[in-house]
Parts: sequence; structure tokens; C-alpha cells
Amino acid sequence: MDKRDYYEVLGVARNASPEEIKKAYRQLAIKYHPDKNPGDKEAEDKFKEAAEAYEVLSDPGKRQRYDQFGHGGLRGAGGQGFDPFGFDLSDALRTFMEGFGGFGDIFGSSQGRSGPRRGNDLQIRLQLTLQEVAEGVQKKLKIKRLVSCEVCDGSGAASSNALKTCSQCHGTGQVRQVSKSLFGQFVNIAPCSVCRGEGKIISDPCRKCKGEGRVRGEATLNVNIPGGVATGNYLTLRKEGDAGPKGGPAGDVHVIIEELPDKHFERHGDDVLYTLYIDMAQAVLGDEIDIPTLNGKAKLEIDPGVQSNKILRMKHRGIHHLHGSGRGDQLVRVVVYTPEKPSRETRQMFEKLSGREDIRPRGL
Ligand SMILES: [Zn+2]
Ligand SMILES: [Zn+2]
Repeated sequence: MDKRDYYEVLGVARNASPEEIKKAYRQLAIKYHPDKNPGDKEAEDKFKEAAEAYEVLSDPGKRQRYDQFGHGGLRGAGGQGFDPFGFDLSDALRTFMEGFGGFGDIFGSSQGRSGPRRGNDLQIRLQLTLQEVAEGVQKKLKIKRLVSCEVCDGSGAASSNALKTCSQCHGTGQVRQVSKSLFGQFVNIAPCSVCRGEGKIISDPCRKCKGEGRVRGEATLNVNIPGGVATGNYLTLRKEGDAGPKGGPAGDVHVIIEELPDKHFERHGDDVLYTLYIDMAQAVLGDEIDIPTLNGKAKLEIDPGVQSNKILRMKHRGIHHLHGSGRGDQLVRVVVYTPEKPSRETRQMFEKLSGREDIRPRGL
């Protein structure tokens, strides 16, 4: 199968800026993401193709090699090379997540890659009160994660002599297997079985981490949550996840927002809704009432003759807009409470009112 030109795949000019390339890739990746196209093989291929093109064109070195030598220029260039033939779906998803953030390692680790593996992404649920959501908040998060072993400096080897380049794959971590079949010759890139794709072999492992290069640890992360977030939103803290084995890069931490229910307010976008119960006398005569807002009490004027279910608007007392400045409103739904167990005296007063023309619903 011939590979399409990477610029053509992304639909950008050969002199496209990094921003244009990223934008073009993003559009394609979102369109063809497997989560949006379950079971669609063609979409998956398009998704992979776009990710592969982006992987190359977003890296100045690879882009230059590609510009000069085409697809052939990217193959077999040592351990740091990019091998389009080893690029599979998990690589494509990784590219997508690295580019735009996204969740964990659902599709398993990237097998085709050589060199030290990346650490796991971690997910943390962060519960926020509506007040915190409204204003934004700074949080300290305590997490447990794997950290680089300080004894061996993450290498996993007891000493520098104990770390050897794998002679099978010459440090690339990959082996090329050529197989023949009825349909022709296949070249398959597989992780080196001797070093398990790591490119290095440890003859004497570090005692502390037993050759893993990482140990259990904890950390406190500072997270700045902007106002206006909602349940399901998440923030990605780059490289704050588990350290990779044997000096591999750290994964990310995804902080997933969970909004706690509030006893007073119901959220509607950036507005909050409060239900205010008033009695019949207040409804008829009007009143000025102290009502809770997201930051303390505020006075609200109720006009005489207000009807049940009328919505009053208190400007700029809602939730901070996530994008841009300003904030939503507080809506107050007025509900007129009908007394359920009036005293004898009250009943008598209502009996007097009963039948009067001026208390009847008119024009309804
Ligand atoms: Zn160690
Ligand atoms: Zn090897």
C-alpha cells in the first residue's frame, strides 16, 4: 500500500505553519476519532493516517527529513527514528492525547515504540462545591504515584557498568522480521524480545527498585481550577503522572471535575436557579427579602401582586464564564405557598375573602 503524502493527508500547504498543521490535524482527528466512529474501519484508518502525518509534520526534525527524502527518510534512523510502518492505533491515540489531552491508556501501551516506556496517566476525581465552581479555586491534591528511583537515578541498574546496549537490536528496541507469504513479502517491526523493546539490558539491577527504575512515592500538586467548570471537564497536568520504567518519561495526571449538588441552587449553564417560597400576604403586599446567593445574602424586592412561578433575575450573581470575563445571573423562581394547616382565625379570614371579585384570577 502506497502511503499518501502527509501534507495531502492533512490538507495543508507544504509551507504550512505549525499552527496550521495542528489545526488541520485536530479537525481530522476529532472527525475520525474511534470513540466517535465505533467499529468504522475506514474512519480508524483515516484517524491513524492523520496522526501519523501530524507526528511527522509537527516535529521539525522529522518534517525536514520528510521534506528532503519523503517517506523513506523516516525509516530506520536509529533508536530515535520514526517508523511509519510501526505506527498503529495506540500510537495514533497517543499522538492525539499528547496533542490535545485526553484520557488514559485505554488501548494499551504503544508496543511499536522503542526506548524507555512512558509512565501511566493517572486520573483523579476532584469534587467541587458550587461556590468553588462559581469563582474558580486553587486546590492542593495529594497523589500517590511512581517516582524515579533516586538510588539508580531511574536507570534501574546498580551501576553504570551494569547497563549494556542490547546486542540483538543494537539499542533500537526493535527487530525487523521479514516473512514471505502467498501475497508477497511482509516486513514486520516487533519489539526486540531480548531487551523487551527497551534497547538496554541490565546485568545487575538496582537493589532499591529491583531494576524498575521507579518506586512508590507521593506528591502534592497545585491545581488552579478556573471558574465555570462543570462535571466531566478535566485538566491535564503534564508529566505529573507515574514515572516511566527505567527512566521513561512520566505520564500525565487528569483531574476530572465533579460538581457537588448544592442545597440552595440548581445550575443552568452559568446561571443558578433558586426557588423562593413566599406566603400569600407577601405575594399580595410585596416585600423585601434576604435570600442566599453564591456569596452571601442579598436583598430582593418582591413586587405586590407577584404570581407563582415568576422568575426574577439578579444580574451577575451566577457562575463565572469559563471563557471570557463576566458571569451568569441568579434566577429566582417565586412560589407562593398556600397554607396547609391554617388556624381557625386564619380560616375565618379566608372565608371572608372567599367570593370577593378582586381576588379572582382575571383574564386567565
Ligand atoms: Zn533504582
Ligand atoms: Zn534488544
